[in-house]
This record gives sequence, C-alpha cells and structure tokens, in this order.
Amino acid sequence: MNVRTRIAPSPTGFPHVGTAYIALFNMCFAKQHGGEFILRIEDTDQQRSTPESEAMILDALRWLGLNWSEGPDIGGPHAPYRQSERRDIYAEHANILLHKGHAFVCFCTEARLNALRAEQMARKETPHYDGFCLHLTSEEISTRLVQGEAHVIRMKVPTEGTCSIDDMLRGPVEIPWQQIDMQVLQKTDGLPTYHLANVVDDHLMQISHVIRGEEWLSSAPKHQLLYQYFGWQMPVLCHMPLLRNPDKSKLSKRKNPTSITYYRDAGFLPQALLNYLGRMGWSMPDERETFGLTEMIAEFDIKRVSLGGPIFDIEKLTWLNSVWLRDLSPEQLLATLLNWAKRKPLKEIAAAIQPRIHTLADAVNWAGFFFNGLPDISQEQLLGKKLDALQVRQSLQLALWRLEKLSDWNENAIQATLSQLASDLNVKLRDFMPTFFMAIAGSTSSTPVMQSMALLGADLTFARLRHALELLGGVSKKETEAWQKLDIA
Ligand code: GLU
Repeated sequence: MNVRTRIAPSPTGFPHVGTAYIALFNMCFAKQHGGEFILRIEDTDQQRSTPESEAMILDALRWLGLNWSEGPDIGGPHAPYRQSERRDIYAEHANILLHKGHAFVCFCTEARLNALRAEQMARKETPHYDGFCLHLTSEEISTRLVQGEAHVIRMKVPTEGTCSIDDMLRGPVEIPWQQIDMQVLQKTDGLPTYHLANVVDDHLMQISHVIRGEEWLSSAPKHQLLYQYFGWQMPVLCHMPLLRNPDKSKLSKRKNPTSITYYRDAGFLPQALLNYLGRMGWSMPDERETFGLTEMIAEFDIKRVSLGGPIFDIEKLTWLNSVWLRDLSPEQLLATLLNWAKRKPLKEIAAAIQPRIHTLADAVNWAGFFFNGLPDISQEQLLGKKLDALQVRQSLQLALWRLEKLSDWNENAIQATLSQLASDLNVKLRDFMPTFFMAIAGSTSSTPVMQSMALLGADLTFARLRHALELLGGVSKKETEAWQKLDIA
C-alpha cells in the first residue's frame, strides 16, 4: 500500500504543540513506510479561520523541520490543499449523498433547534436532532428550496445498534448509534462542516492512514458511515492520546504555554522540542532519551504508543533542551544563539532603549528582559500600591482574556485594550500599570510597557502575565465564572 498521511490543522489560533505532536507521528509513520506526509488546511470555519494563523502554523511546523511534500504553499497533485478553495467539490458530494438517500435537507430554524435542545436537556437527554425534516415529501422540499428557504444538509444515521470502529492502537471500539447525531454536512451558507470536508478530502487525497488526536474518536462513526455511503474504502484510523498537564488535565494554555512559537521565542531548540514530543507516549526500543527525527523515523513503530495520557512537563523539556544545547560545538551554539536573537525585533528594541542608555554596556540591563525567560519577581513587587490583591489578579486575568482575542498584535491595539479594561474596572490605567511593568519587564523602570509587550510578542507576553497571576495565587473556578460574566468586551 502507498502510505500517505496528513496533518490537517484548522487555522484558528496560535500553532499548538498538539498539532506538532500529531504532525510528528504522522511524519514518522509515513517516512518509515517510504510514504508521503502532506499538509491540508481545514478552514471551513470562516468566522474563526485567519490567514495569519495559517502562516504561523506553517512557519512553526517548518521551524521544527516537520516538512510536508504537498500543501497549500507548495501545491501537489491533489491541489488545492486549502478547504475554502474546494467548496464546489464538497457541494457536489453533499448532493451525491442526497441523491443516494443518505442525507436529507433540513429547514429547521435556530429557534426550533434551541427549543428542542432545551427540552431534551430538561429531560436529561443528550441534545440531538429529532429527525423532524426526515419525513418531508419531495414536493414540499422542492417548493421550499425554490422559495429560497434557508436549509442545511444532514446525514442519516442508524438509530439502533452499535458501530464498531477499528483503531490501530485500541482495536475495535464500540459506540452505540444512539450517541451519534444526524450530523450537519453542509451549512446554510453552502459550506461543508468539518466531517464532510475531512472525509471527502482524505479520500480524494488518497490518505491511507488517519493519525489524529483522541478527541476525534467520537466522530469516527460518522466518518465510517460516510465512507460506506460513498462506497469508498476508509483509511486506517489511529487516535493518539491527548497531551496532558502535569495534573493530568487536558493540556491547556492556562497551565502551560501551548504555542509552538512560545517555545521557539523562549529559546528552545527545535530538535529538543521534537525529541520531547517524540517521547510523549512513545519511546525508543532501547529507551534512549535523546534522539533526533532521523533516528526516530528509523526506529518508529506506532504500535509502541501507549494510551495513558502523556504529560507535557516544561521542566523535563527544559532539561532535554539543556542536553541538546550541551551537545552543540561552541561554533554551533554561537550560530544558534545569533539566529535566535535575530528573530527578535532588534532594531525596535534598540530604538526603545536608546533614550535610556549612557553607554553601550547599559543596553544589557535595559534590553535584557526582551531575551530573558520569566522574570524573577515576588508577590509584593507585583501588588503595587494602589490596588488590592483581588483587583490586581482580576486586572491581570481580564487583560489576558482580552489580549488573547486580539488578531493584530501591536502597541495601539494593546493600549486600546488595556485602557478600555481600566475604564470597565473603574480604575486608573496608571494605577494598574506597575503590576504590568513588573510582570513583563521584572522592574517598574523599563521601556514603556505596552511597547514592550508589542515587541516581546503575544506568546511571551501571555506567559509572563500568566506567571504573574500564578505568583499571586492564580484564579479559582468561581472567580473565573464570575469574571467571565463581567467581561463584556
Ligand atoms: N481540522 C482538524 C483539527 O484541527 C483535523 C482533525 C483530523 O485530523 O481529522 O484538528
């Protein structure tokens, strides 16, 4: 069999380490079998997908050396590799399913679906579509379509029995059909949902093995059914365990930075990060801890993935990074250091410290925090004088939430966000600024803090704000809920 695997990220945010983890295992599996590893962009969620996110994901995967042989940037025999450019293909396939009687047109309005959901929840049932439009006559459907009534296309699913999914790591997995909803395949805007686009593309792009995160296992019955409806052979499925925080919860940015670019900017080597991801639930046959991509490919065996949730622990990653650093020759280390520093906005940093330095040597003090890891600060320093501890934690948390939503990371946008926040919280901007200076620069005398945040970049800024919050005791679940309600931005 010609082995072809893929990574299919949705460009809706920062490049996630989980994406790199899945890409790594897909790549190793393909290369070990002399096959191809390809990249497809799944941007059917038009509201959340952005070209900036796509560019960051591609850049981050390239930085790691996870190179693909077909993709939106380089083309290939199955182009286009961006789903937003393939809408006609999906519409055609949705129609095939309609004609075969495997899918149906549904005119149910948002209001009806909301009421249905509420009723089902009141009865303690899992919300699901009740099949209301399944029984419309073809005349009625045609009339309503001609009248231009808004509609979606849903797939039919059995209501009884169980579906058995064959997973490479888990063997057969049984899921009762009752748990599977009549999935929308095509939305009112004519665009496909993930499920239809994913299945159609995996088939047309001749993907032989789908290796993806465990969170997609519950979608597998729908996918298997779609393959059957189309009369296609389904790729082999393999659902990888999810990466976890040290407390076993699903890896989340609340506990750990999760953006690949954070690790790049914080001074981790791509080899070390790949090596660490390679050890997530997997090990070399001889249990060696340090290995490169080529070695991993040579020894790869997916069957050795263990299903217990692998823990992503920054301390272990940092240790591994130090091993890789020590392995470099002084020449290599210097070149690596210079390359890393060159990724920082050096000219802008120079301009920012220029009014403050008396000698060139002063630059080390003034610019040091742009290059440092997390600042060495205490609770007392963070608290400042004007606000109480609760207000400080609240301002940090709300700032984080709002800054995370910025699509354009620049000084003006940061300034506008924080000014608005100060006014919403009824405090003076200059009263909560000392905390931000400490959190970001580790000192209250520094280059202007919003400019510093812009130059540091979103990833490092978020990591420092989160670090400050943790130092102040974090945010409880109750507070999170209460503050989310308050956060009207
Ligand atoms: N677009 C999906 C994601 O973002 C891909 C899931 C899959 O590999 O099927 O994870």
